[in-house]
Amino acid sequence: MTSPAFLLLVTALLNFMMLLVLASLRRSGLPGVREWLWANVLELLALACYLTTPLNVPVIPILVGNGLLGAAICMFYAGCRRFSQLSVPVRPLVISLVLFLAVLAGLRFYVDQFAMRVVVTSIYHGGFHGLIGYTILRNHPQTRSTYGHDFTTGFAFLLTAGYLVRGVLYVLHPEIKFWYTDYSTLNLVFLTLGAVVIPGLTMGAVVMAHDAILTASEEVASRDFLTNALSRKAFIEYATRQMNTAVRTGRPLSLLLLDIDHFKSINDRYGHAVGDEVLRDFTLIMHNALRAADCLGRLGGEEFGLLLYGASQAEARAISERLRALVEANTIRIGDGLTSYTMSGGLAHWSPEESLQELTLRADNALYEAKGAGRNRIVVSQFTTPTSPPQ
Ligand code: GH3
Ligand code: MG
Ligand code: MG
Repeated sequence: MTSPAFLLLVTALLNFMMLLVLASLRRSGLPGVREWLWANVLELLALACYLTTPLNVPVIPILVGNGLLGAAICMFYAGCRRFSQLSVPVRPLVISLVLFLAVLAGLRFYVDQFAMRVVVTSIYHGGFHGLIGYTILRNHPQTRSTYGHDFTTGFAFLLTAGYLVRGVLYVLHPEIKFWYTDYSTLNLVFLTLGAVVIPGLTMGAVVMAHDAILTASEEVASRDFLTNALSRKAFIEYATRQMNTAVRTGRPLSLLLLDIDHFKSINDRYGHAVGDEVLRDFTLIMHNALRAADCLGRLGGEEFGLLLYGASQAEARAISERLRALVEANTIRIGDGLTSYTMSGGLAHWSPEESLQELTLRADNALYEAKGAGRNRIVVSQFTTPTSPPQ
């Protein structure tokens, strides 16, 4: 078997294996996976067309084969856009593919210019790899591991450079021989690189997809199912991180513990489902009123913690009071009627010598005081430096 044909078969095998790997992601429902699957199927079909070259029916490898491979790279690009929550420009993609094939047909059946066909193909594929790299780079996640994104971007840009080099080489040396029967090192190098293009990009896509799945499941695990507030564990972890940041930056930090008043009687009067509704309503009010940096956690039943990072003591007090007033003014529909509820809060402004447990204890005592003083109020805890016992 000739070496170039052998390389095509290796590519097909790689493609097929990546197809199996991608198929495992179908269940994830992630946007883009379907398009990536199609890209691999189209490339497999394109490879089959290239293998028919010795039959001397140029339309199959040149138009059908290149058409399928062009469609494969368009599909891959579409998958990357969908994965990045961007729309897919279907019409421009189809037009580009038709134009590409028209030019190739002209360069084969009007004037037979092999080198120019390679240049045009290199520009088309190089351009799309550049677009893929750019799309993934622009949509780099800010908060999570980015190995998959870095890999895909780097690989796509490397391929853009590779295609550019190939295009320039064929402009400078149009005499380079027909690729299928050409055993030159250069030809084999390009074929080998070509063999890893879609499988390599697919590998990057799979890593990105796994990364996204992992992040989504971490997100689910750290959220309370009913209210979507942070779970108790995630809130404590978050508060510990914020406290360390505050130590470094010297920015102020406050903890507000909130508890819905007479919640048990809401349950008793209207039923547990309405109680759940009130909990969701309460969290919605909080999330709508807060900045993204302020984090709400559900610490237990109808008790919540709110970490106010960067707010001075006076600001934290004003925010707490505003939240309390919002809850008091809010009404919730139950059957045909409306009802309202209130909340109490204990606010403690963090002092750098304090641990999270000490801060929580102060906020909790203040909350207890607010309940004792009649509810529907915020009590602020005053930090007192522990005095050393008399000698
Ligand atoms: P206080 O004003 O002193 O806070 O009184 P309270 O009735 O709000 O507090 P208490 O601790 O006596 O009752 C809390 C109730 O919250 C008891 C529990 O059944 C209810 N609860 C805890 N988790 C949930 C939940 O997820 N859904 C609903 N509907 N009720 C819950
Ligand atoms: Mg309560
Ligand atoms: Mg309670």
